Amino acid sequence: MPAVNRERLLATFVDLLGVNATSRKEKPMAEMVLAAMHELGATVHLDDAGVQIGGEVGNLIADFPGTVDAPPLLFCAHFDTVQPTEGLVLRQTGEKFTSDGTTILGADDRAGIAAILEMLHTLRDSGMPHPPLQCVFTIAEEIGVMGSMVLDYSLITAPYGFVPDSSGPVGRIIVSAPAQQHIDFVVHGKAAHAGMNPETGVSAITVAAKGIARMKLGRLDDETTANVGIISGGHATNIVADRVEIEAEARSRNPQKLADQVAHMRACLEEEAAAVGATVECTLTDTFPAFTLAADSPTVRMATQAAETVGAPPVVMATGGGSDANFFNQHGVQAAILSTGYENPHGTNESQDIAQLVTLAQWLVEIVALGAQA
Ligand SMILES: [Zn+2]
Repeated sequence: MPAVNRERLLATFVDLLGVNATSRKEKPMAEMVLAAMHELGATVHLDDAGVQIGGEVGNLIADFPGTVDAPPLLFCAHFDTVQPTEGLVLRQTGEKFTSDGTTILGADDRAGIAAILEMLHTLRDSGMPHPPLQCVFTIAEEIGVMGSMVLDYSLITAPYGFVPDSSGPVGRIIVSAPAQQHIDFVVHGKAAHAGMNPETGVSAITVAAKGIARMKLGRLDDETTANVGIISGGHATNIVADRVEIEAEARSRNPQKLADQVAHMRACLEEEAAAVGATVECTLTDTFPAFTLAADSPTVRMATQAAETVGAPPVVMATGGGSDANFFNQHGVQAAILSTGYENPHGTNESQDIAQLVTLAQWLVEIVALGAQA
């Protein structure tokens, strides 16, 4: 198969890294990718996801007609990054890109975008036969996979999808991910003066502390986790606190285990509240659905075989994180997450290995080549 152009890929990657595009503020990145899609000859749609979630732009869906009659393939990466990105000072040490340590690098997920663009350039330059391609660039992935949650799936026709958006050496194929529920608790106690009449008060802080202390949290088994992430409440040391807000989450690849864990966390708080006359409000939000690809899915077969071709040992595995692949699978696209060679995403020590990025782009080219034979 034609080889990707390392210089062009690195130039694209560096250009993308220079763009600030945090969640809901993806317009500069969308404009850059939109121009590239037009230049490559795509038919481009921007959906109304930005309107729905309060962002600057929507998801970008770019269609390339096939040169052979085979099922369309979908490639997806996300526009947004976590913070901080402003004022990136790019460092290259040998085969590694990093920031200067004061910002993230943003390889999550610019590595994915750059690899998809390089794959498209390589197809165009080589005239390599390919099936129809759908390239989807999503918004607000980093704040709860919101862009793909509200994506206009009427535009999606591809049965098989590849989402380069995971850390680790290239060759990892993630075929299973958990569902997540977000839990908002509000504990209502009763305010009282802490010095004059504390006995008439009910401390929401004490209820919250006792309830959380009873919860099974952290890693619960190989497919289930839970965490209390945010707690706030109270006004002053001389007031018995009447209100505490708690934000928590649970995840599992097993729906029953997820439901049981959420019920357990809720019961811990409600029982402690009932014992002292406090109450608990609980609001559950399904953040993203679980998915598990069948071992014989053509997606897994193509990704595995293509990884072998590019010399990246394929490793088929599950993850504890959510991504755009969760929603694609819910909507009938057999989508796997691919590793990209970045490390420490979301940290100021984030890095991207250059050779791995080149292998990633070549991996995508080989996947397309296999798709053309289908
Ligand atoms: Zn990502």
